[in-house]
Formats: sequence, structure tokens, C-alpha cells
Amino acid sequence: MGKGFDLSGRVAIVTGGNGGIGLGMATGLAQAGAAVLVAGRNAAKNAAAVKALQALGAQAAAAEADVTVQAQCGALIETALGKFGRLDILVNNAGINIRKQPQEYTLEEWKSVLDTNLTSAFLCSQAAYPAMLKAGGGKIINIGSMLSIFGAAFTGPYGASKGGIVQLTKSLACAWAKDNIQVNAVLPGWIDTELTRQARKDVPGLHERVLARTPAGRWGDPADFGGVAVFLAASASDFLTGTAIPVDGGYSSQV
Ligand code: NDP
Repeated sequence: MGKGFDLSGRVAIVTGGNGGIGLGMATGLAQAGAAVLVAGRNAAKNAAAVKALQALGAQAAAAEADVTVQAQCGALIETALGKFGRLDILVNNAGINIRKQPQEYTLEEWKSVLDTNLTSAFLCSQAAYPAMLKAGGGKIINIGSMLSIFGAAFTGPYGASKGGIVQLTKSLACAWAKDNIQVNAVLPGWIDTELTRQARKDVPGLHERVLARTPAGRWGDPADFGGVAVFLAASASDFLTGTAIPVDGGYSSQV
């Protein structure tokens, strides 16, 4: 691996790193040499992810954390510092969706999607900032969506959270560039994970529509996210900040 992509000695936190896209990114970071702390609510999934990362020869640990709770975001950073001594990379990936028509959402449902997908990224970034300052810089990777760009009838709060994540990315990038902290977003296309397995049950014809619309002719796989995670976490991307990169098999390029 080129020197600009080497993450040896770096420490990463991946929220929602115990499965799906988060584990795809955690795997890429681990393969590039980073020590990885995965964070999620489900202890069994956390343990399985740690085992998979350690099997690659990486240093890995898990923290049971609900990123909608501010104190747990702070504790997550402390856990990374306690276990690995520093923090260089934060991937704000934890996310949920509730699919309904806009008139059907309760306020609680709206808040739970916004808190999980958007507020958590703000809180974890805020909590990580002092540790990144101490490390002399850092990399924050936020996970958006095609719904950061497009609308859909059944994704009111999700689309709002994912549009917000792009703007949050730009604000953090502008504020912290002086501190050598780069902040970028990744916008996944349609990826085969637990989240979209449910969507394919809920939304008739979704599977076929995605296939027809995606120039690559397939759904994405979590492993498709290892490369972009490494690039955005490594010194190779030091002059890249505030961007939102689609990783979508061309979905957003096609009318
Ligand atoms: P998964 O459902 O497979 O993964 C979601 C992850 O988030 C799980 O690890 C889950 O762990 C974690 N999580 C959810 N809520 C919380 C919480 N409150 N605190 C801590 N962790 C939490 O979905 P994906 O891998 O598909 O999604 C990952 C990200 O990618 C999300 O932000 C999603 O919006 C985004 N995305 C996904 C797309 C796709 O096609 N799959 C497309 C575009 C964006 P646990 O349950 O253990 O807490």
C-alpha cells in the first residue's frame, strides 16, 4: 500500500461499525493498519465484528453505545482513548430509517431518525474534537445517502437527516480546517444491508427499480466502502474537505 494510504498507528471509531456499511468501512480501515473501535447497541453484533476485524490481524475493540445519547458519545471517545491512546478517525455511520408517508409520522418517530442519523454525528464530532486537536489533526467521515440529493415520498425525516449531514459536513470542514481536521461525507447508493433488506420488503418493486437505474447493474456491497474509507482517513486526502462523494455505481449520474 502507498505511504499516503497507510493507517498504521492510527485509531478509528466507526459508529454502527458492527454490520453493513460500517463494518465494510471498519474492515478497510483495519486492513490499512488502523486500530478500530466499533460502536453499536447490540452486544452480540459488536462481538462478532471485533472477532472479524481481529481475524485480519488488526487491533479491534467494541463499545456498547447508543449514539442518540450525548453522554454515550463522550464515553465512546474516552473508550477509544483508554484502549488505544489516541483518536485520529471518526466515521459517523450509525443510521436508521422509518418509511411512511409524511402525514403518518409521529413526532417521536421524526426525532428518533433525526437523533440517530444527524444529531449523533454532531455530538460525536464535537466530543472527538479535543482528542483530534491533541493528535495534531484528524479525519471525520459522515455517511449521507442518495436521499441527501434526491427526494422520495416515504422518507421525510430520513431525507431531512441526510440532507442535513451534507451541510453539517461543510460547516465542520470550514471550522476545523485550521486544526488540520478534514471532514467529508460519503453518499452510498443502494447497498445490500439489513436496512435495505427491510426496505425491499416495505417498498414494492424497489429491488428491480434500483437495478434498472444503477449503471453498474447491481446493488452495492458493504465491501465497496473499504476503499473510500481508507482514502478519506489517510493523508492521501489531506487537501480534500467539505465534499460529499457518491459511492453508488453511477446511480446519481443517470437520469
Ligand atoms: P445497517 O442497519 O446494517 O447498520 C446500521 C448500523 O447503525 C448498525 O450497526 C446499528 O447497530 C447502528 N445503529 C443504529 N442506531 C444506533 C444507535 N442509536 N446507536 C448506535 N448505533 C446505532 O444499515 P446500513 O449499513 O445500510 O447503514 C449504515 C449507514 O449507511 C446509515 O447511516 C444509513 O443511513 C446509510 N445508508 C445506507 C444505504 C443502504 O443502501 N444500505 C444507502 C444510503 C445510506 P446496533 O443495531 O447494534 O445499534
